[in-house]
Amino acid sequence: MPRLLLIEDDLTIRTPLVRALRDRGHAVAAASTAMDGLRDALDNRPDLVVLDLGLPDLDGRELLRMLRAVSAVPVIVATARDDETEIVRVLDAGADDYVVKPFTAAQLDARVRAVLRRGAGAGADDPTLVVGGLRVDPRARQVTLDGVAVELTPREFDLLHHLAARPGEVVTKRELLTEVWQIPYGGADKTVDVHLSWLRRKLGENAQQPRYLHTVRGVGVRLEPPGGAA
Ligand code: CA
Repeated sequence: MPRLLLIEDDLTIRTPLVRALRDRGHAVAAASTAMDGLRDALDNRPDLVVLDLGLPDLDGRELLRMLRAVSAVPVIVATARDDETEIVRVLDAGADDYVVKPFTAAQLDARVRAVLRRGAGAGADDPTLVVGGLRVDPRARQVTLDGVAVELTPREFDLLHHLAARPGEVVTKRELLTEVWQIPYGGADKTVDVHLSWLRRKLGENAQQPRYLHTVRGVGVRLEPPGGAA
């Protein structure tokens, strides 16, 4: 069941809308101020946010910018103003869609489903691997760690990609040699060790204090997010 967060200060809009969206099969949480809404969005990670632009404590556009700085959650903006400049501004600020007040629950529900469908499609097509703060994008062959690009050689990239596809699993050196280097095993495991140590350095860690790359002595290596729980 999709989880929605409705940020709307007007009780006469909020109460019936929450009820109507629940009747249509959504789990709905509601907030009446921008700051409560922001906190709820970060704590509870809803699937979609419906955001009223006219809020008592903060302009909705400002909240949208703050939210966008920390989250990719889809946002549908509810605006009282049906003018093009306003709509272009909210879409530019990162909204995924908008509804103009007064709108019906059926209308909003249709927009919600359309935005969620788009999001689901994008997610299914995206082969990017995410392990903790590490993102490995095989299409662009780019790696970022906590949002910062990590420059890797082609071999280091292949090695990291192979491990990131198996988070929490111990991968043997034999497997790495045959899958990443495509050479048969036979005493060449020093090559794997050397590349692992280069990769470690580029991820800003070392074997004594591993964060992502954990050596399992005599067996191989395991990639997992800091703090475990892959
Ligand atoms: Ca309002």
